[in-house]
Amino acid sequence: MSELALFGGNKAVTKSYPELFKWPIITKEDEDAVLNVLRAGAMSGTSVTMEFEKKFAEWNGTKYALGFNNGTASLQAAMYGCGVRKGDEVICPTVTYWASGAPALSLGATVVFANIERDTLCIDPDDIERCISPRTKAIICVHYVGYPCDMDRIMAIAKKHNIKVIEDVSHAQGGYYKGRKLGSIGDAAGMSLMSGKSFAVGEAGMLLTNDKEIYDHAISLGHYERMEKEYITSPDLIPYLGLPAGGYKYRMHQLSSAVGLVQLKYYDERCAEIRKAMNYFWDLLEGVPGIRAHRVDESTGSNMAGWYAATGLYRKEELGGLSVTRFCEAVRAEGASTSPGCNRPLHTHGLFNTFDVYGAGAPTRVANADRDVRELDKELGRSEEYEAATYSIPWFKHYDKEVIEQYANAFKKVALNYKELLADDPGDSGDVGGWHFFAHTAKKKS
Ligand SMILES: *Cc1c(COP(=O)(O)O)cnc(C)c1O
Repeated sequence: MSELALFGGNKAVTKSYPELFKWPIITKEDEDAVLNVLRAGAMSGTSVTMEFEKKFAEWNGTKYALGFNNGTASLQAAMYGCGVRKGDEVICPTVTYWASGAPALSLGATVVFANIERDTLCIDPDDIERCISPRTKAIICVHYVGYPCDMDRIMAIAKKHNIKVIEDVSHAQGGYYKGRKLGSIGDAAGMSLMSGKSFAVGEAGMLLTNDKEIYDHAISLGHYERMEKEYITSPDLIPYLGLPAGGYKYRMHQLSSAVGLVQLKYYDERCAEIRKAMNYFWDLLEGVPGIRAHRVDESTGSNMAGWYAATGLYRKEELGGLSVTRFCEAVRAEGASTSPGCNRPLHTHGLFNTFDVYGAGAPTRVANADRDVRELDKELGRSEEYEAATYSIPWFKHYDKEVIEQYANAFKKVALNYKELLADDPGDSGDVGGWHFFAHTAKKKS
């Protein structure tokens, strides 16, 4: 009889331990913090948020932190703060959540997509200069599913061309690149702190910068209550104090800020345990054909932060061409949840091809530019292929050796017995990933 559970063998995972995956970790301290805000009637306002910002900035090693209602708004404000305006271009990796790049459209700017690297899944520094034009204002770099971007090379390219760097830290809060904290290396950073992320406080976002001009302009886009002399010193904004320049209202809900203050106290310690567990999982799979770890060498002073949306790399050429779809099906039968793919490449979505969002008489991405930036998408074929070379892996929150060994064994068993799976391989459908995290997880369940 086959060893594989898909064909009647014993399951690799026999121990159920739901606490291992539960996130965020909420204790009475979080509950009390929320109740205090509720009872004080301070759900709106900025007092708790400002305290959270102060502690967050200290923790992240930046001068300024500005709380937002979500990560999307923080990224739009980071772009605005970095001077992205009508007709400008930002460069963004094509494989990421849409909010890394799409907010440029509402600023009258456009997005030029760059390739990602096969092994890091982060923006390929070798592909950035191809994307630069005289209208380029910023490079958005996403520390994708926890992996720190090659910041030395990205910063050097940006400096050479006099453009800004915005870090999207939504997947990597608290992580490091060569000893430097993510979110403190570029000109500005934006990030999501929503409940699905590794730093999870509710619906919230945070902008970080050391630059007062960027900070002031980020405020001006959507924080009318801070459009006062007390906060704003940039001369171009002084005549316009009182109302937000962007017309938006972007402040953080204070129930989220209260949770954030508590989460921050324990975050580093909890992430350290996650990394210990995840590194152990990958150590167990070292050398298994078809499977590659998506992880950084921690001896360089870099790390994978809270290992958000933990992902594995797949090399089907080592497994007789077995599709990642079939591979994941067999792993699931072993009792480990996994699904193929990561974020789908954004340049393949209609929003960035045909949609005239703002009624300009042409697709927004083109109407906002002085060239048809869609032409540059022709170079992105390889990023379309990487989708089927990734799969989700268990995101362990605790270091329980025995259970982690069982999960690692599920993947190993399938890889070692791949030949039995080739006969009924349906292949990959071409849309193995998702446009956003929720679609991806919804699909996983079906
Ligand atoms: C989640 C996410 C965002 C957006 O954050 P929200 O809080 O959902 O608005 C931006 N960029 C990336 C890479 C994300 O994963």
